[in-house]
Amino acid sequence: MSAEAKLARLGIRSRFDLVLHLPLRYEDETALTALPLAPVGKPVLVEAAVRRAEVAYRPRRQLVVHAECDGESLALRFFNFYGSQLKQFERAAEQGQRVRAFGEVHPGWFGAEMSHPRYRIVRESEPLATALTPVYPTTSGLGQSTLRKQVLQALAEAELEDTLPEAVLLRHGLAPFGESVRLLHLPPPGADLASLADRTHPAWRRMKFDELLAQQLSLRLAYRARRARTAPALVSNGPLLRRFLGKLPFALTPAQARVSAEVLRDLAQPHPMQRLLQGDVGSGKTIVAAIACLAAADAGRQAAVMAPTELLSEQHYRKFSQWLAPLGVGVVWLHGGLSAKQKRAAQEAIAAGEVAIALGTHALFQRGVSFARLGLAVVDEQHRFGVQQRLSLRKKGEAGADAAPPLVPHQLMMSATPIPRTLSMSYYADLDVSLIDELPPGRRPVATRLVADARRGEVLARIRDACADGQQAYWVCPVIEESKEGELQTVLDTYDLLARELPGLRVGLVHGRLSAADKTAAMQAFCAGRLQLLVATTVIEVGVDVPNASLMVIEHAERFGLAQLHQLRGRIGRGARESVCVLLYAAPLSQGARERLKVVFETCDGFEVARRDLHLRGPGEVLGERQSGAPLLRFADLERDQELASAAREAAEELLASDPGRARAHVARWLSGRQDYAKV
Ligand code: ADP
Ligand code: MG
Repeated sequence: MSAEAKLARLGIRSRFDLVLHLPLRYEDETALTALPLAPVGKPVLVEAAVRRAEVAYRPRRQLVVHAECDGESLALRFFNFYGSQLKQFERAAEQGQRVRAFGEVHPGWFGAEMSHPRYRIVRESEPLATALTPVYPTTSGLGQSTLRKQVLQALAEAELEDTLPEAVLLRHGLAPFGESVRLLHLPPPGADLASLADRTHPAWRRMKFDELLAQQLSLRLAYRARRARTAPALVSNGPLLRRFLGKLPFALTPAQARVSAEVLRDLAQPHPMQRLLQGDVGSGKTIVAAIACLAAADAGRQAAVMAPTELLSEQHYRKFSQWLAPLGVGVVWLHGGLSAKQKRAAQEAIAAGEVAIALGTHALFQRGVSFARLGLAVVDEQHRFGVQQRLSLRKKGEAGADAAPPLVPHQLMMSATPIPRTLSMSYYADLDVSLIDELPPGRRPVATRLVADARRGEVLARIRDACADGQQAYWVCPVIEESKEGELQTVLDTYDLLARELPGLRVGLVHGRLSAADKTAAMQAFCAGRLQLLVATTVIEVGVDVPNASLMVIEHAERFGLAQLHQLRGRIGRGARESVCVLLYAAPLSQGARERLKVVFETCDGFEVARRDLHLRGPGEVLGERQSGAPLLRFADLERDQELASAAREAAEELLASDPGRARAHVARWLSGRQDYAKV
């Protein structure tokens, strides 16, 4: 592998990236330690006169160097060594030279010993290092000393001028840039090691601030660049939308009304909307999407609604058809169950602009589908899509543009992972965010029960009673095939077992390996009440909405993630009836599983779940690499460094307004080669 490739693996692409490759820790070679004073378990620098060197064979082949300092003897042992090293030490012994060794000193049979220390042959009273020795994160095949040499050379040659105006430094109490980087690479003796180690030192603070600022700036710049493009202005009070609102199936909650107004206001602009709609599971995001789609239809434009699973897109199709067909709005569902002929017909209708609204999975934006007049793209459960899929969506919209300048469709993204406002402002600085912060009226919180799987019999009795009472239930299993450990029941086994254990109940089965048509048939039967119990994998995790289902059993609940449990539980509690979610677990529980189940047990509030998930796993894990802002951070942590993050947000706005040139220079310094993430 080339040197460049190795550096690239460390995220180093430009010369300045070397300067920003900051040490993990330091070794102190600025002072010598007397052998009798060497602490246990802590590496130190010692110096001793070389007396002789030999190769010993017991207990295994090794190079042993005997040295002496102030009457104390020191043995250095090397288990992997070259012949040249033996010669080097023999020569040093003849010439009365000394060895300076860095490592841990431990007591041996005949005095102090060190095992393969880092060492250098020196003359008497050679000067010591004046700064701590930095240790950098490295990768296999790239030696620490080679990397260190490159970094320090880049540092010596770099222009370290400050990208921030004096006023910003003063306001946020920030140390100058050049001083901070130099200090981090080569801290002088006496530097505060504790604050360097826990990264609270002012120099670290400055680096984190700069990094957070670069992230904010790049997201805001990407936002502005997209916002500067032209989109078709949609119609916010056209006849279709007015008729729909006039006979809504229910009254919008105040939160739904507020976010709908926010969305419609954006859509009426001749610039692409980039809005994220956040709302807990069941808060009613779909109807807001329908309202946005009608604004497109009223403008004679098409809308596309993309969902992460076929099951969910089918459900959208049913709702949209039910809501919009009476208005004469054409809706088409592109899915795997279509015959080649049907598929071609659907694609042609989309390409000819004959249908107003197309629904489907990411297949909607694959080759072969082109929209005549796409005005709006809705992405449901957007956190489930990868960066690539979102990119292709964006490109599709642009390629399909039919006017000059090209018209870019509006984008509405929806997500049921509500995160605290401070975090969303950092992560989603390239989006406008709307929030549905209340559930439709009449919902009762789901009661959650933790039940050891030894009490499975009681759970079965409960299902029997509920179904006899006209309710419906889900039984969720973690995997579809027998796992390697053989511990997990397959969904197929579970289905057979439950069908036998619950005679007289109409039991159905849905999982990812079923054909699209079978999945659809099962879901439809459950929706229509023809099935009473649905045995399912997590294919029902997102979006599925069957209000009459009021009981859910999650088997092996300890295997699921926190967000997943909350999403699954969100499938019930949608009707007027009291709903119960039973978390069946296999004891003993790991510490992590215990904590997750505790959270799900204690709260039904999506915000609270997200907050505690963030606390347990950190934002990177929770929001995933898929979120555009995350990969831009190496040093700062959005949860721990909240105060810096909000300072950086403020500074970003200010810098963009007062000095865009400097803002760009700052982004270039920090993110050369990484900005792509921000474009998604
Ligand atoms: P999510 O935000 O999870 O996508 P949905 O859009 O699927 O939620 O809505 C959940 C359920 O709530 C659906 O059955 C929907 O019809 C119903 N619903 C949505 N808004 C309201 C409302 N304002 N009043 C009553 N029911 C509503
Ligand atoms: Mg939904």
